[in-house]
Amino acid sequence: MPDIRTIMHVDLDAFYVAVEQVRDPSLIGKPVIVGGDPNGRGVAATASYEARAFGIHSAMPLSTAKRLCPQAIFLRGDYREYGRVSKEFHAILRDYTPLAQPMGLDEAYLDVTGCEPVVQALSGAADADVASPEKLGRAAGESIRKRVRDELTIAASVGIASGRLVAKIASDAAKPDGLLVVPFGEEAEFLAPRPVRDLPGLGPKAEAELSRQGVRTLRQLASMPETHLKSLFGKWGASLAERARGIDPTEVAGDREAAKSVSREGTYAKDIVDKQVLLATMRGFAESIGAELRRAQRRTRCVTLKLRYNDFSTITRSHTLDHATFGDDVLYEQGARLLRDALAKDGRPVRLIGLGTSNFTDDSVQLDLFDSSEQSEEELLHNIDRLRAKYGRRVLETGLTFFDANSSGEDYDPDRRTGLSSQIGLNNNDQSG
Ligand SMILES: [Mg+2]
Repeated sequence: MPDIRTIMHVDLDAFYVAVEQVRDPSLIGKPVIVGGDPNGRGVAATASYEARAFGIHSAMPLSTAKRLCPQAIFLRGDYREYGRVSKEFHAILRDYTPLAQPMGLDEAYLDVTGCEPVVQALSGAADADVASPEKLGRAAGESIRKRVRDELTIAASVGIASGRLVAKIASDAAKPDGLLVVPFGEEAEFLAPRPVRDLPGLGPKAEAELSRQGVRTLRQLASMPETHLKSLFGKWGASLAERARGIDPTEVAGDREAAKSVSREGTYAKDIVDKQVLLATMRGFAESIGAELRRAQRRTRCVTLKLRYNDFSTITRSHTLDHATFGDDVLYEQGARLLRDALAKDGRPVRLIGLGTSNFTDDSVQLDLFDSSEQSEEELLHNIDRLRAKYGRRVLETGLTFFDANSSGEDYDPDRRTGLSSQIGLNNNDQSG
């Protein structure tokens, strides 16, 4: 008997705008864009559906948005309020299952397998309403949508499927304010007619490369030989055809399970003595860890460097911070300082480097302690996370990040073939325990 699981992806519609509309109902039904001053250099973080009708989308420069829709209402955004509402949203989800994994302020994956009793208690569903995995998902999804609407006055879209990947595509397809169940066993048929860009993680460059191969739909992608995909996209490409059929073995992680430590490490194909290369790796790790901490609404008080030298001897060095943080820059600075100190004592070639964080505090405790300058940095980081989630990590990167040592390949970029990463050949060894 195969292990059939009921997975859902819950995603709030136009979240920042929705929060603004709760506070100021006169904004309802209008083109509203959260992101900042339309005469500045910022980009749209969220646009209302009325603004999207003008072709405006996330990550679009605000100046362009203003040109497309001069009558739009531009708001700077209140990220503290968004964080507060987000906590309430995720608390609602945790009522349904301990396996509720936040993927950002406004979205999460849930595994409600075996949660019939609690779903029935919360929704009033009869036994017959939860008698199959699909029915259980629908009952839970409708109940969540109702509670989010009643308690937060925000519309949530829900996708339900046997795995995360298809659930995510289903919630996108259900928007706005909808629920879509993909019948179990019909994942491939559901995906087949869709454009390749509907596959999460498949960015514009990979889409263009596939288009050059004449591949435009997931049906076509699903039938491509693994060897061909590998030759086009490297390691990341190998699983593309499977993903196009809806196969995704990734499990939904419980919120609390991931909370003890978050770390990244990688082994170089060639031992490294160049400090700049080590620092660039460190920068990539810091950004990746920072994003994960922000997603989980955790801040760390302890940063740990791990180094393995060419003779396999391994050291770790830790530093405890005065203030808990989830900021990329602080994580990088602390990691870099530990690295410089270690290299000053022992400059042998490095085989493996890692950056870890632990000793977490809950985000909500810290938010109140932040002054306005820290808050604006926080806003920036949240916006970067959103854009990266949508368009891939490389849409925004600091000059220090020459490559993403931690790449899972989801942000495939053909230009990187000539980049430092391929010369060095860093192996991915992602650890988030
Ligand atoms: Mg959303």
